[in-house]
Parts: sequence; C-alpha cells; structure tokens
Amino acid sequence: MFDALSNAIARHSLPPGTRLVEAQIVEALSANRNHVQSAIQRLVLQNIVTIEPNCGAHVSEPSAQEARDVFAARRAVEQGVVENISQDKMKRHIKALEAHMQAEFGATAGDDRRAIIRELCNFHRLLGNVSENKVLSTILDNLMLRSSLIVALYQRNDIPNCQHSEHKAILSALELGDREGAAALMLDHLNHLESELQFNDESKPAVDLCKALV
Ligand SMILES: [Zn+2]
Repeated sequence: MFDALSNAIARHSLPPGTRLVEAQIVEALSANRNHVQSAIQRLVLQNIVTIEPNCGAHVSEPSAQEARDVFAARRAVEQGVVENISQDKMKRHIKALEAHMQAEFGATAGDDRRAIIRELCNFHRLLGNVSENKVLSTILDNLMLRSSLIVALYQRNDIPNCQHSEHKAILSALELGDREGAAALMLDHLNHLESELQFNDESKPAVDLCKALV
C-alpha cells in the first residue's frame, strides 16, 4: 500500500497538492482501510503527505526553502553513497547497472516526460542499492521521493538530456575505482540539477480549494 501510493506520487500520477481521500483510495485499490490509513501516516512522517486540520491529507507541496534543503541533504548523502561504492560492489551489481543505463538511454531518447524523469530518478536510487548501505539507501529513497515533488513543482519543462551523460561519467569513475572523482562528479551533477529549478515559476502549485475556502 505504501509502495503503491509512493510510486504514484513519484511518477506524478498524484501531483503535489492532490487531496488524498481515504475512501477513494480504499475503493480504487480494493484495499483495507487500516492499511490505507497506516500508509498515509507513514507518508506524513516522511514529509511526502501533509495533513491539515479540517482539510484532510494531500500530497505535500515543498516550499522553495525545503527544496533547497532537500538538495543540500542530497549532496551530503549521495556523495556518501558513491564514496561507499567499491569496484567489487560495481562488479556485483553490473547487470542491474547496465540494464538501468539501457532503460535510461531509451527513455531520454524518447519524449515521454514521465518515463524520462522516472529513469533519471531510478539511477540515484540504484546507486543507493549498489552502495549496499541500507541506512544511506533508506534516507536516499525518501530524498528522491521528496525530489520528485520538487521536480513536479519547480523544474522547467525541458529536461536537459546531458543528465544521462553525467550519470555515465559517474559510473565510469566508479568502475575505475576513482571514488573521489565520482563524488566530485556527483556534486557537480546535483548542483546542475538544482540550477535547473525555477522557484519563481508562474505555473506553480494549483490552488488548493480547501485552503482557499477556509
Ligand atoms: Zn541524475
């Protein structure tokens, strides 16, 4: 249940601001009410969903400040992730890495924006797995989910396709055992991503009817 909701949020099927009506989710997923409630509670604890008095639950809409904080946290965590990836770990996960890079290349060559965002995001989560450090990868999973909200709210419509080549460069450094170089490339990559965000975009969050009327 938690995965079903968080995946829908990650792929922007439930964009920021969407009201989450428990009864509708129970019906749509033929799910148990208690399971839906506890999944929503978990998402609230992870800052993915916000509950406001009298307004119920909705998918969170991170502020510009929160977006910057998430990126600062990603810089710390993801540099840690790559520093934890030895050449041995790269070898152990080579099949998953190759399959991912193929899927990412395929997506970025097309024009399905959701597929592109999903694959570009998956790269970061995959590196979390490759690090074989559950603490880092759990923190990273949360940060990536929060990033998907940020991308939905603040990223320009055109997605720079250089992201795929930056991912490739990080992997090449790791394959050579150059963890310091990979960490530096990751830092550049995240700075690049953050610079693509537009915090004064007019196409900003849809009006929350509930908030507007109360
Ligand atoms: Zn990336």
